[in-house]
Amino acid sequence: MNSIELAGVGMTSQRTRERLIQRLIDQGISTQAVLDVIRMTPRHIFLDEALSHRAYEDTALPIGYSQTLSQPYIVARMTEILLSGGPLKKVLEIGTGSGYQTTILSQLVDEVCTVERIEPLLKKAKDRFRKLGLDNITAELSDGSFGWGRHAPYDGIITTAAPQAVPEELLRQMAPNGILVIPVGNGQSQDLRVLKRVGDSSEFDEEIVEKVKFVPLLGGLSR
Ligand code: SAH
Repeated sequence: MNSIELAGVGMTSQRTRERLIQRLIDQGISTQAVLDVIRMTPRHIFLDEALSHRAYEDTALPIGYSQTLSQPYIVARMTEILLSGGPLKKVLEIGTGSGYQTTILSQLVDEVCTVERIEPLLKKAKDRFRKLGLDNITAELSDGSFGWGRHAPYDGIITTAAPQAVPEELLRQMAPNGILVIPVGNGQSQDLRVLKRVGDSSEFDEEIVEKVKFVPLLGGLSR
């Protein structure tokens, strides 16, 4: 696990960040570890300079290539759900994007594997991980529709782009009692689904949490 040393990364006042945390609490985020990590993580470094002044608003923001950095509330919610069954060792994230969600996860679990299909986004995200000194992240250019077999099985899988149906391959890459948090649906409106593998069986308990709005999970790579 890592802890990001924030001193000096400032530019944004502590008060602005506190306001965001209070907003997350008001919206029902209650896991202290998740709130602490969001409070300590500088979101502005995951955005282009022209947008960085909006980093602590509770809103999704563009990161180029028609992709978005997810809204802090949804990052917090998905992370909270992922961790709800106890500490996790290895987590797979599909859709690295800016690397913000990856950075949050890397401070809460032992190891994060993350895949992104757009090469320039992946490159920028990797630079950020290096600058922040995060050494428990393995990132690769890859189509996450097939999970990432090389490092499977995963105690947790989180998808930050929405497929139209849960990819079978993700279910196969879950460890016993593993948890999958995934938006599923068409277009820009989807259900956030949570699937828990029952022991080491091929059964999964499934729950729909709330309506969400993610970019679509697309096939193939973009260089
Ligand atoms: N977690 C990101 C959210 C980025 S938006 C963040 O915190 O910034 C979702 C990302 O999923 C986009 O960058 C998009 O390119 C990526 N994506 C979409 N389909 C994918 C696929 N099949 N494999 C890997 N990444 C994918």
